[in-house]
Amino acid sequence: MSELLAMPEDWTRALAIVAHPDDMEYGAAAAVARWTGEGREVAYLMVSRGEAGIDTMSPEECAPVRDAEQRASAAVVGVSTVEFLDHRDGVIEAGVALRRDLTAAIRRHRPELIVTLNRRDHFVPGTWNSADHRAVGESVLDAANDAGNRWIFPELAAQGLEPWGGVRWVALAASPQSTHAVDVTGTMEAGIASLLEHRAYLSALTDEDPETYARGFLTQFAQATGERFGVPFATAFELVGF
Ligand SMILES: [Zn+2]
Repeated sequence: MSELLAMPEDWTRALAIVAHPDDMEYGAAAAVARWTGEGREVAYLMVSRGEAGIDTMSPEECAPVRDAEQRASAAVVGVSTVEFLDHRDGVIEAGVALRRDLTAAIRRHRPELIVTLNRRDHFVPGTWNSADHRAVGESVLDAANDAGNRWIFPELAAQGLEPWGGVRWVALAASPQSTHAVDVTGTMEAGIASLLEHRAYLSALTDEDPETYARGFLTQFAQATGERFGVPFATAFELVGF
């Protein structure tokens, strides 16, 4: 019997909300490619522009580069809507201000599924997850509820953003407590190509050839997850129901 359950498929609209450009591309993008290939609608919302992500570039230089790389990366997996909230990279705070921004976005997009990145302390034991990932994950889970309650941010309803109580799941990618998975055997190449669009980021991150790096990293992960799901390649999620 498979250790991971199949992700729900009875939905049509998803919104991916992550802290940085590149967060979706470390595994989840292959699942997005599968979903958009099936005719589902997926939009991306980045909480920051990832402007603190490249040591050799100042945030002012970096933001437009990462913005453009994220849009190209999304296009590879069939996503044409990419939005940015402009919280400051590296010091994103979980809390009411972020929940309000996320609630507004959820009410505009009206997704049944929200995808975000691991909010746990670590990806693998003995490492530490970033403050931004932890803050965004927690606020996404809170905002999934807030979006359906007219009285939590009444100013949003006054602006015409009516409550949306239709979020059924939040799926957190790359969680050490993953429960579900998607077979990405047919869309691995799209996932790799999607990560490769982050050219400036990858060339600052590693001395390795970007394609060797992206292919090696993503294949190794997807194979290990595939073994737990009984397919060649898979992407895992920790699924939270609403
Ligand atoms: Zn990140």
